[in-house]
Amino acid sequence: MKSIVVANWKMNPATWRDAKRLFDATRKAADGAKQTTVIVAPPAIYLRDLAQAYKGRRISFAAQSTHFEQSGSHTGEISPAQARDSKASYVIVGHAERRAAGESDEDTAKKVAAVLAERMIPILCIGEKSRSPSGEHFTFVREQLVAGLKNVPEQKISKILLAYEPVWAIGAAKPMSPADMHEMAIFIRKTVVEKFGAAAMNVKILYGGSIDENNAEDMLRNGDVNGLLVGRASTEASRFTALVSAIA
Ligand code: PEP
Repeated sequence: MKSIVVANWKMNPATWRDAKRLFDATRKAADGAKQTTVIVAPPAIYLRDLAQAYKGRRISFAAQSTHFEQSGSHTGEISPAQARDSKASYVIVGHAERRAAGESDEDTAKKVAAVLAERMIPILCIGEKSRSPSGEHFTFVREQLVAGLKNVPEQKISKILLAYEPVWAIGAAKPMSPADMHEMAIFIRKTVVEKFGAAAMNVKILYGGSIDENNAEDMLRNGDVNGLLVGRASTEASRFTALVSAIA
């Protein structure tokens, strides 16, 4: 089965010239990895030009975030319609860094619906801030998941990508263990099947948080996930190339 790698460039690189260079290396890496679907999420200001210049079929594009309204007085925001018009086919929703900046569960639910309405695929990010020995993080993840999927009809659930990103593992020294991810993947699947029925059985789950060229393969093999959401390691050409070739 094909695995998915989302390259979340966040607010990098600093110049258009460097963005083109990084994309060029990403494109070459994707060309050499036929079993991997690469989704590049550049800063919005680079999205349209990168996507329009790209003539291949191996890479898809994501917006890092959109508003839930399709137009209006929202200074600094971009709409799902604008993201789609810029050739994005995915949108990251509810990333931990957006939630830390004030995005609520209610916002993520509206964004998921707005992205689906524009015929794009939401990549809904969920994940607890910390782990507790009594397992409260499972309750937290269930609540975030149910809240974010609140407006999703049953027939759309299989379209959504769920990115489990424990906040404590984002930007950290190492990811969570694949065994712990495996446990969480079972829990997430069980939660969505309880809510959406059999249609949710094949929902795709990604892991994100300190994935790099040295640990990506182990996580994909043993973490019970369909793919990875990669931050820092996707913004350095040599590391991303090594990561993609490690999982190919
Ligand atoms: C992220 O921001 O979604 C992420 C996973 O970052 P990093 O890979 O740098 O931990």
